[in-house]
Amino acid sequence: MPPPELLAVASNPTDEVRLTIPVIGMTCAACQVRVQRVLQKAPGVRDASVNLMTNSASVVFDPSLTDTSSLVDRIKGTGYGAELPSEARSAFEELAAQDESLASDYRSLRDRAIVSLVIAGLAMLVSMPLMSTAAHQGAPRMADPFMRWSMQILDPALREWLPWLYGISPSTLSWGLLLAATAVMVWAGRDFYVRAWKGVRHGSTDMNTLVAIGTGSAWLFSALVTVAPEFFVGRGIVPDVYYEAVIVIIAFILAGRALEARAKAHTADAVRRLAQLQPTTATVERDGVELEIAIAEVRASDVVIVVPGERIPVDGVVIDGRSSVDESMLTGEPMPVDKGTGDQVIGGTVNRAGTFRLRGTLLGTDSTLSRIVALMREAQRSRAPIQALADRVSAIFVPTVLVLAAVTFIAWYVVADDAPLVRGFVAAISVLIIACPCAMGLAVPTAVMVATGRGADAGVLIKGGESLQRLQEVDTVVFDKTGTITLGTPAVTDVIAIAGVSESEVIGTAASLERASEHPLGGAIVAEAGRRSLVLGAPDRFEALPGRGAVGAVAGQAIVVGNERLMADLSIDLSALRGAADSLFADARTPVFVARDGVAIGVIGVADRPRPEAPAAIAALIREGLSVLMLTGDTQRSAAAIGHQVGLTRVVGQLLPRDKVAEIRRLQREGHVVAMVGDGINDAPALAQADVGIALGTGTDIAIEASDVAILRGDLMVVVAAWRLARQTMRIMRQNLFWAFVYNIVGIPVAAGVLYPAFGILLSPILASAAMTMSSVSVVSNSLRLRRARLA
Ligand code: ADP
Ligand code: MG
Repeated sequence: MPPPELLAVASNPTDEVRLTIPVIGMTCAACQVRVQRVLQKAPGVRDASVNLMTNSASVVFDPSLTDTSSLVDRIKGTGYGAELPSEARSAFEELAAQDESLASDYRSLRDRAIVSLVIAGLAMLVSMPLMSTAAHQGAPRMADPFMRWSMQILDPALREWLPWLYGISPSTLSWGLLLAATAVMVWAGRDFYVRAWKGVRHGSTDMNTLVAIGTGSAWLFSALVTVAPEFFVGRGIVPDVYYEAVIVIIAFILAGRALEARAKAHTADAVRRLAQLQPTTATVERDGVELEIAIAEVRASDVVIVVPGERIPVDGVVIDGRSSVDESMLTGEPMPVDKGTGDQVIGGTVNRAGTFRLRGTLLGTDSTLSRIVALMREAQRSRAPIQALADRVSAIFVPTVLVLAAVTFIAWYVVADDAPLVRGFVAAISVLIIACPCAMGLAVPTAVMVATGRGADAGVLIKGGESLQRLQEVDTVVFDKTGTITLGTPAVTDVIAIAGVSESEVIGTAASLERASEHPLGGAIVAEAGRRSLVLGAPDRFEALPGRGAVGAVAGQAIVVGNERLMADLSIDLSALRGAADSLFADARTPVFVARDGVAIGVIGVADRPRPEAPAAIAALIREGLSVLMLTGDTQRSAAAIGHQVGLTRVVGQLLPRDKVAEIRRLQREGHVVAMVGDGINDAPALAQADVGIALGTGTDIAIEASDVAILRGDLMVVVAAWRLARQTMRIMRQNLFWAFVYNIVGIPVAAGVLYPAFGILLSPILASAAMTMSSVSVVSNSLRLRRARLA
């Protein structure tokens, strides 16, 4: 045992490893819960979540206490398969591998389902003469509507069409059916039995257990009746056989799985479309020679040539040439964007017009596209908190159903006055077959998959199920001003200098310092200096003071650029500029003061325009019943002026970044669930404090790592779309869970026969399997409706 301090070091959360392990053979929520439990209990594992949709386990563990291969062994110990994740696979390759395994699953399920369905149809026909024989021997009256129908219609029709069938001896027919049922069980239904058996050996149950016990006991009973009918007749038991039920159940469940597999493949359509944007080759210029090389071979030193109509192969900076680039596939922005020397372009977007050359910046797995695809896959694997309910139920579901089936059998045996054994037996099988946790397991993850994909289509990346659920709970939306409500491309409108100093000196002094700044106001001042063709110095020292301005030194002189608050903090006297500043305020401009060696030399008026869509977006959010406010570091007066232009009355100015955090915290203490919309660059703390951080990005500077939701193009309407998407997704999830639960809550008692005494309705195992199949198919289809969700 190491001393406690060593243990503390070993459990330092920064040492943890996050890993995704592919898991094979999970079919229902109970399987998923089982694997998840085993992983969560493993030593060294901090967190584990297993996803039924992507067939994978995400594990966070401490590498000093466990390792990948022992985690894989643990999963294998549950009876499911697991693979060592291969380290070097890119998100694209992972996606392709997953698609391939989904497609081969689908093909195999489809083939087995079709063959079993054909055999099932034949078996139903062959069973008719047997059923009418059994009915003459005193089999219980058919209480299943479907069976009653088939006896009434099909039996006479068959007697007319295929009279020879009724001439075959019942024993021959039974033996034929026994062979057919056994063949279908072994060939098409093998997985049910193998997995159920593995589960039993590990003391666990899942839906395979239910199917295996249900069909297995029906088969066994029928086989005994076929081999030794006298034994049963002698004891007053109707010698009825249920082979057709066994075959139909297997056929229906396989058909349901096949439909489900096909639908599941569609839930990943959006991410697949993104991955397909990645070109495979690039044209580069090396030593004056143009070569076409594979994408993976592009190096940072390469010059890449892009011709019109081509997909831009890698992220990079244009070094010469001009063009117009269609970025809609990534950002959803329909208008092409003009690009010239120095502009960033994103790999996967389409060059519409000119030829240009670029130098690659983000290559391989660092590329924007690769990061987006990886994040989306992570998001689609993630869980939504609402799923916890389904998980808890699934964990106890199968044992509960086994008990209910036993109770059903006993109750019928005790109560029924004709053929109690057979009736009890059939009802118990129906209970086993109709009860299925599949729908519960699919209800939430399918919706998360489809919704995150739909979001990407609309230009919004949602971090995962949890973000989606929290976004829907939001009642207050807080906007940052600069770069969020406004375009963030402010322009200098006025320059006022004190006596003895020229305008150019004021701009030049400020710009020499602001060259080092990333703030949009700094950018505006530098741009103005450029327009005036001023020669700028280089700052020897630079410090950004968020929410106030910047300080530093240029050519030995101490320079301060910033707002009134910064000047006050540094005791710089502004009395000579007071009048000028007031008239700037009156015109809704932001005054930026400039001081040199402790003396104010001038003030620069900067104006930033609100985004054109800001009034509409804010109005839409208010209409949706959200309260909307703006927080800014700018003065209350300019904030109010901008607020007025976009229809916002609740504006709070003069906030330092930490004040914004405090303001959000205050709202949260009042019980509000707060979303913060910011540019993600200087608003990171506020984005993190908010319940949902929404980062507004453009192109390559996606701040998604710092946020819960990333808007890929500077468009506030997308914020509204994201919120609507979240709300519709939660509605779909609730519907799915509701129907999954209701279906089981209603289906099980009906299968057990509670409607029989009053209405004479009883489900045959065949109808039970059809109902169970429909439930999971309907849940997946309901989630797929989100692909067409209206967000505008
Ligand atoms: P917002 O909250 O609107 O995003 P910031 O917190 O980024 O605004 O900045 C708040 C205020 O601080 C600005 O309005 C400006 O007065 C001042 N400021 C911040 N950085 C700079 C800078 N680099 N140059 C000049 N002024 C600055
Ligand atoms: Mg800002």
